[in-house]
Amino acid sequence: MRDAVRLHYPESVRLLEQAVNISSGTLNVAGVRKVGDLFAAELKGLGFETEWVSFPDSVRGAGHLRAVHRGTLRPRLLLIGHLDTVFEGEAQRWVQEDTIARGAGTSDMKGGDVSMILALRALADAGRLKDMHVIVIMTGDEEAPAQPLSITRAALLDAARESDLALAFEGGTESHAAIGRRGSSGWSLTVTGRQGHSSGIFSAGSGYGAAYEGVRILDEFRRAMAGEQGLTFNVGVLASGTTVVPRPENGGMLADGKSNIIPPVLQATGDLRFLTDAQKEAARARMRAIVARPLAGAQGTITFEDRYPAMPITPVGQRLLAILDATSRSLGYSSVTTTAPESRGAGDISFVAPLIPGIDGLGVAGAGAHSPREQAFLPSIRLSAERAAVFMSRLVEQWEARQADPGSR
Ligand SMILES: [Zn+2]
Repeated sequence: MRDAVRLHYPESVRLLEQAVNISSGTLNVAGVRKVGDLFAAELKGLGFETEWVSFPDSVRGAGHLRAVHRGTLRPRLLLIGHLDTVFEGEAQRWVQEDTIARGAGTSDMKGGDVSMILALRALADAGRLKDMHVIVIMTGDEEAPAQPLSITRAALLDAARESDLALAFEGGTESHAAIGRRGSSGWSLTVTGRQGHSSGIFSAGSGYGAAYEGVRILDEFRRAMAGEQGLTFNVGVLASGTTVVPRPENGGMLADGKSNIIPPVLQATGDLRFLTDAQKEAARARMRAIVARPLAGAQGTITFEDRYPAMPITPVGQRLLAILDATSRSLGYSSVTTTAPESRGAGDISFVAPLIPGIDGLGVAGAGAHSPREQAFLPSIRLSAERAAVFMSRLVEQWEARQADPGSR
């Protein structure tokens, strides 16, 4: 399998170049679809049945590539990639300097998609893919999941229900993969107060106004919960005045007001990241309690929106990591440990974490993700693909051995 990876490596670099030169920001429906077609053709060549999963007309978004290779062996594997990039527009095309490739999606994560395909090719060349059951889902909107999630993540969840383990190819390094990722949630705070002349602020008639009440709430969030292990709650946007108008097109707000008017409205939006769903629920309860004790003359409401469930570290996850670690060392690479769940954002694997165990960070090494300086270290495609091919093969061997010897379960 290692020889097969090395044999096909140059064509994988060319495939990555082609993919990076198709602009596919999340909102670029045609571009995302085109990258999907490019990878679908590769998977078809390996014996996968491919289909494009479109969203209903009411949902904005390109949809997902789904590819299935049917076989009788367990574990049935779900491989996760994504076709979209953070940046929209034509900029950031492929520039290669020796072993570094720059451009949108080089490491996040067209590079990971390419190493996934290369690993499957190596398995096929070695005659190992034949009886394996593999579903590939490459989503078209990982960087900004289209809403509602009940529709736009249905294909991913359906695939998880037909699978035993999830392997995701987001960026990683030689020494680190991820078996835990934090979940994330959005929150939105609206505070109203009595509008009046600034000279009356703090009086019984005027009260404290919406700005002071909103700031009280946010400051109490920080006092009560900042520093709790694994929990963060950022305030992303804050506006107050006589009027506040949200701008859904870019996530911002427009405020009007005057320095001599007690503001009747404050709005704030932010996120909440957590290690477990229990931690999420506890944090939300404390935030609601803080909002429920307003200063005189003001009142607030806070609402929460679920985004990503948490992917907590589990014993099965640790077992997967141990197998990956042994695989890596036997190929002559370094040992592999998990990144701290706090250290990275949530990803598509998080959606399936409540259904099946998995591991992420199997993709390529790079730098500058989510910035105009994104790049990938090209030889890491080889490392990633060699390791993934042997890892998948060992998962099958060890699963079969475990079935044959129930005492070892
Ligand atoms: Zn990504």
